[in-house]
Amino acid sequence: MKIVFRGVRGSIPSPGARTVRYGGNTTCIEVRSDNGELIILDAGSGIFPLANTLLASLPITCHIFITHTHWDHIQGLPFFIPVFIPGNCVKIHGAFDPVNHRSIREVLARQMEYSYFPVREEELNATMEYTTLRERQTIEVGDAKVTNILMNHPVLNFGYKVECNGKSVFFTGDHEWPLNIYPDDAENQNEMDRLNFLEYQSFIDERNQELMDFIHGVDAFIIDSAYTDEEYFNGKVGWGHGTFENSIKLARRAEAKALYFTHHEPTRSDEDLEKLLASLHERFPPTEHDPKWILAREGVEIEL
Ligand SMILES: [Zn+2]
Ligand SMILES: [Zn+2]
Repeated sequence: MKIVFRGVRGSIPSPGARTVRYGGNTTCIEVRSDNGELIILDAGSGIFPLANTLLASLPITCHIFITHTHWDHIQGLPFFIPVFIPGNCVKIHGAFDPVNHRSIREVLARQMEYSYFPVREEELNATMEYTTLRERQTIEVGDAKVTNILMNHPVLNFGYKVECNGKSVFFTGDHEWPLNIYPDDAENQNEMDRLNFLEYQSFIDERNQELMDFIHGVDAFIIDSAYTDEEYFNGKVGWGHGTFENSIKLARRAEAKALYFTHHEPTRSDEDLEKLLASLHERFPPTEHDPKWILAREGVEIEL
């Protein structure tokens, strides 16, 4: 299996001299199975440079899996050139929107409405197929299979595991590792507050364990690490994103082979990212059993 990062930035495309090495495009990951099946995780602006690499080999069939429909994960889709060309087949998968009661097709078609884009979804020339996924549904894609798991974000977000011939990659999409909403203060708490804390904690522990079991032993763990712990605890709690420090703990616990930090903050320069990685190595010295820690970088290809 092969992975290429096509977009590693969170929130908004951030081109410019400060981000030129790690890249300014928003989330998109190209995965190729051993037999060459094309699986695309998210359709941020990084799907546009990916589309350009496909033009020499049309017609194509591809399988796009959307973690969630925040702009930075879908904004490139109207510029995914194969959708305009007859003969291509684009299969899009994603979650149901339980708040607005819309299928993945309905949600995505909205960003191509008259007010936003000159071509309507119904006018696309490729064969478009949509699958609204159930939780934990597995989709077979040739020699690979893709299974989702529910994550924690302000909109319904699926993390995806892609497996092929004994190798695997897991991508969180956007995910905040849940915190207990009740304070942990055994000495000063009354019995009811304490019970609330313990009950909520056991719910969190159970969810985290399910996730760890799902991810356990993956070859590549690609994880939303938007913030540092310091940034997170200074006003970003509940925004739906992870931290570098937490990513390291989780990758260790999941016994992942390699950890890729992604969803880089639009304001974080290449230099900032590298300084941050160096400080993490000092603060959490890697052991011989640790996964490799890598900053996801646009254009980099990984062979699993
Ligand atoms: Zn995002
Ligand atoms: Zn999001």
